[in-house]
Amino acid sequence: MARVLAVANQKGGVAKTTSVASLGAALSELGQRVLLVDLDPQACLTFSLGLDPDALELSVHDVLLGRLPAGIVTRPTPDGADLLPATIELAGCEAILLSRTGREHVLRLALDEVADQYDFVLVDCPPSLGVLTINGLTAADEVVIPLQCETLSHRGVGQLLDTVADVQRLTNPRLRVRGVLPTLFDARTAHSRAVVLDVATRYEVTILEPPIARSVRFAEAPGLGRSILTTASRSKGAEAYRAHARAIAGQGSGTGAAPGTGPGTG
Ligand code: ADP
Ligand code: MG
Repeated sequence: MARVLAVANQKGGVAKTTSVASLGAALSELGQRVLLVDLDPQACLTFSLGLDPDALELSVHDVLLGRLPAGIVTRPTPDGADLLPATIELAGCEAILLSRTGREHVLRLALDEVADQYDFVLVDCPPSLGVLTINGLTAADEVVIPLQCETLSHRGVGQLLDTVADVQRLTNPRLRVRGVLPTLFDARTAHSRAVVLDVATRYEVTILEPPIARSVRFAEAPGLGRSILTTASRSKGAEAYRAHARAIAGQGSGTGAAPGTGPGTG
């Protein structure tokens, strides 16, 4: 049975999509069978893995509306993981789902059908706390929260943790917060670290180590249709995501958490 990780933060530009693509490639390198799910109507994950969203006939939209099984829509990607791609049609899906009974559970039910074909499913959530993100959280065993380390970033984490608590209470009691992943991290200033410490103490949430440093190498990868694991294989960014993948897979040296920050909430 696949373990499902949702990567969520309602703020855009915090490296959700980058983290899903990079962790997916890193888990694939470890020999894990990985499915990535693009739940964002902007389809950035789909595009960044080399597929043209405008040219796709079938997408996760058809799966969420119960028209097609996930296995038919899933495509291979060059970095090893399979992808359940998105198109702009997904934007209309939210409105259609809102009138449906059990709307929070449609992704979970769809993934149940392919769960025995994968070790991990990584869900790239959109930048909102709407029904698509709720579907991602309802399908997930764990949620990873990328955090761009800047002033006031913590406010979004509080709102997201409130949503996680609602999901735990109403649709998915097994959901756990794996932790906050510091991204776009600037090790040269004290500010990034201060933001991370503030979030760790304020919410008693695990901080996942190592942080992902800000690097121009990340800007190049999506345009090449590959993750940074391929385009800058030996970069610090690639190595950091490899460490997280090892921790997630329960292999090797990845620590997964800073000492003394305690378990995730929930
Ligand atoms: P989200 O999915 O949360 O909106 P993205 O993964 O699309 O965020 O990242 C937003 C932008 O930041 C993208 O242009 C991406 O290439 C860039 N980016 C992501 N991680 C890093 C990093 N560690 N250093 C520099 N740029 C990054
Ligand atoms: Mg994104």
